[in-house]
Amino acid sequence: MKQVLILSGKGGTGKTTVAGVFSRLAAACVTADCDVDAADLHIILSPELSERKKYYGGKKAAIDAAKCVSCGRCREVCRFEAVSAEPYTIDPHSCDGCGVCAWNCPAGAVTFKEILSGTWMVSSSRFGVFAGARLEPAEENSGKLVATLKTEAGKAAEAAGAKYLILDGSPGIGCPVLASLGGVSAVVIVAEPTVSGRHDFIRLAELLKQQGLKGFLLVNKYDLNLEETGRLEAAAAGFGFGLLGRVAFDAGVIKALLARRTLGEAAACPAAGDVEAAWSRLRAELEK
Ligand code: SF4
Ligand code: SF4
Repeated sequence: MKQVLILSGKGGTGKTTVAGVFSRLAAACVTADCDVDAADLHIILSPELSERKKYYGGKKAAIDAAKCVSCGRCREVCRFEAVSAEPYTIDPHSCDGCGVCAWNCPAGAVTFKEILSGTWMVSSSRFGVFAGARLEPAEENSGKLVATLKTEAGKAAEAAGAKYLILDGSPGIGCPVLASLGGVSAVVIVAEPTVSGRHDFIRLAELLKQQGLKGFLLVNKYDLNLEETGRLEAAAAGFGFGLLGRVAFDAGVIKALLARRTLGEAAACPAAGDVEAAWSRLRAELEK
């Protein structure tokens, strides 16, 4: 099974549009939306839920009033200002779960309990199995949730005998991106031809290089700035990345999103043809 991860330096570059087309062309495959902070691939894949599981990804401190001797040490050492005095209590929304208060408490009065951080789901879509997740409001630990989601999606792919696992990653270079890199066969970076798009691309390419992963570049809306498109491609070549092609700026993208369909599914358009050609190139690379 080949794992294809689609990333971008920031949100809104067309990463999910590309992931949707790859999912359609790779069908029957397993697709996972690893952008758990702002999941949206389900909008165009319209999956039907088969299984939902709660995800407990962190711990919060609490004070056992029966043991507390009101020394105030926990309040002094808490850098998150989560502890209130008289009586000593901890605000779970401010608590980071670091444990410093527990190490310093002379009475063993601080306890920890697991908290619900999110939910992950496995569903069926018209292109195969779809796995997605959602963080609870204000919850962190998205990297751990992505790791859980990837494990479950991998199991589903093995069970279904799928040839491809398509992963719609998170934007940027943070924890959820790092968690999505393990075991991938190819990383596709979708970038726009702007100065900031080039800087975002380079930041991401450096991360992939550090991790020993080879990437591919797909330039979205290339025709809005041909000069910057050339610079992006030169930067990609400098990293030894493969060039998957250029995607035209096209109103068909918005029409497909409004129809909640993958690009090119309901009607052909230039951008759809460009992404389809990119998939053919990538597949040829994966089969080498
Ligand atoms: S676990 Fe850390 S953040 Fe939470 S109350 Fe204790 S010291 Fe503060
Ligand atoms: S350090 Fe322990 S005993 Fe002291 S106030 Fe905090 S919880 Fe109570």
